[in-house]
Amino acid sequence: MFIDGTWYEPRGRSKMKVVNPATGEVFAEVPKGTKEDADRALEAAARAFTQWKEALPSERASLLEKARAILLERLPQIARLLTQEQGKPLREAEGELKATATALEYYARKAEEIEGEILPARAKGMRNLVIKQPVGPVVAIGPWNYPVLLIAWKVAPALAAGCTVVVKPASQTPLAVTEFVRCFAEAGAPKGVINLITGPGRELGEALIRHPRTAKVAFTGETETGREIMRAAADGIKRITLELGGHCPLIVAADADLGAAVEGGVYRAFRNMGQICNSINRIYVEEAAYTDFVEAFVERTRRLRIANGLEEPDADLGPMIDEAAREKTRRHIQDAVAKGAKVLYGGKEPEGEQYKKGYFFEPTVLTEVNHEMIVMTEETFGPVAPIMKVSSLEEAIKYANDSIYGLVAYLYTQDLDKGLRAAEALEYGTVGINNVAGGEVEYPYGGWKQSGLGIELSDYGLEEYLLVKHIRIRSLR
Ligand code: NDP
Repeated sequence: MFIDGTWYEPRGRSKMKVVNPATGEVFAEVPKGTKEDADRALEAAARAFTQWKEALPSERASLLEKARAILLERLPQIARLLTQEQGKPLREAEGELKATATALEYYARKAEEIEGEILPARAKGMRNLVIKQPVGPVVAIGPWNYPVLLIAWKVAPALAAGCTVVVKPASQTPLAVTEFVRCFAEAGAPKGVINLITGPGRELGEALIRHPRTAKVAFTGETETGREIMRAAADGIKRITLELGGHCPLIVAADADLGAAVEGGVYRAFRNMGQICNSINRIYVEEAAYTDFVEAFVERTRRLRIANGLEEPDADLGPMIDEAAREKTRRHIQDAVAKGAKVLYGGKEPEGEQYKKGYFFEPTVLTEVNHEMIVMTEETFGPVAPIMKVSSLEEAIKYANDSIYGLVAYLYTQDLDKGLRAAEALEYGTVGINNVAGGEVEYPYGGWKQSGLGIELSDYGLEEYLLVKHIRIRSLR
């Protein structure tokens, strides 16, 4: 752990084991932080805030830039660690770290662009300034699927805005995030500006969120955890940003470029073993395109290569994070099959000696599905693509909106007018037309409905770390 500028490993306390999901073997241990550690980290962050909020924008930008340079220098080692603890193929881990570097670069620039306003007066002799100031110490809590990137999406705007941070990574993937924090330590972050505490969220959560020094909580994880965080933040009326679960639809119109829709659909349904908030969870295809789409989708899925991502860096898919995740995937498939779904591909562990030890699972394609099945309404967070035939685009939109989630929706059509009208009707924070690109730092990313609260990325994301102040001045002359 890193608290108040010092690396710290408590002696004689129990530790948390880190498992390689490709082999099931424990390969590292990290300290189990306590409430006392949380308290020390937040006191340090509060002390540091009094100085950091006064730092020049160029000084804040410089810290982010230096940390980025160190991250890029160490990228090969950190990527290996990320693959080892998370399971994603090495090339994907490198991609996550490059995107992290891009986020640091973007918010380094934004640190120097925070501006206020001068608004018109209502009466003679009055002047009205609007300035923006950092909200205060931030608790940043991240999940295990994109552990470094999703922490960086919080740390970078927070530091750029002049906030200090206490980082709490997911317990399954604490190692690459620790190296990310080390980049800031070595870049010369003043003590207390960034702190790292490892430990179980269920035990540390309250201590971190309810702490009187905590001004804001930025969280990515499950919707249920989001609710707990909201409750814990309620007493102190703490600012919160929540990026939660999703259940993302892909709609394929009859006039779509089917090749592009299949390529995009397979990529976004199975990447990272479907363990992404913006994974495609259900696919609606207009009748006229249905048979061709399904056939091509299965064919493309068959060609995906599954492997231990350290041994085969360019594999398409690695293992799932753990047995619980694999079991949930099996359960969702079994429920669908019991209710009449057909498994066109996958549905089981891949065969072969190399898959015996880890948490591997085949990408799975289901048809004959309906909204009575769990897989069509609950987030599987696994590699399952259920495909449903619909009679019209309107019907597809109705089904797509039949969800408590509203994170991302995707749509393929060659009629842009139709696409835009559908995009406006879809109750989602992001709509991709003819592409399945993920979150990019320049554009706002936030869930509608129970997928979240607030925005990450872009200028909108920076605003979440700033408070607005009106200064009303009366001239006494
Ligand atoms: P969890 O909600 O289980 O955990 C996320 C983080 O919260 C972990 O660091 C965890 O710690 C911590 N935590 C757990 N309980 C509490 C608590 N009571 N108070 C404070 N912190 C707590 O999510 P997962 O790690 O399983 O991540 C998967 C989820 O993340 C999926 O639902 C997915 O959709 C969502 N997600 C959303 C994204 C978005 O942008 N909308 C992006 C990526 C993922 P510990 O690990 O110690 O339990």
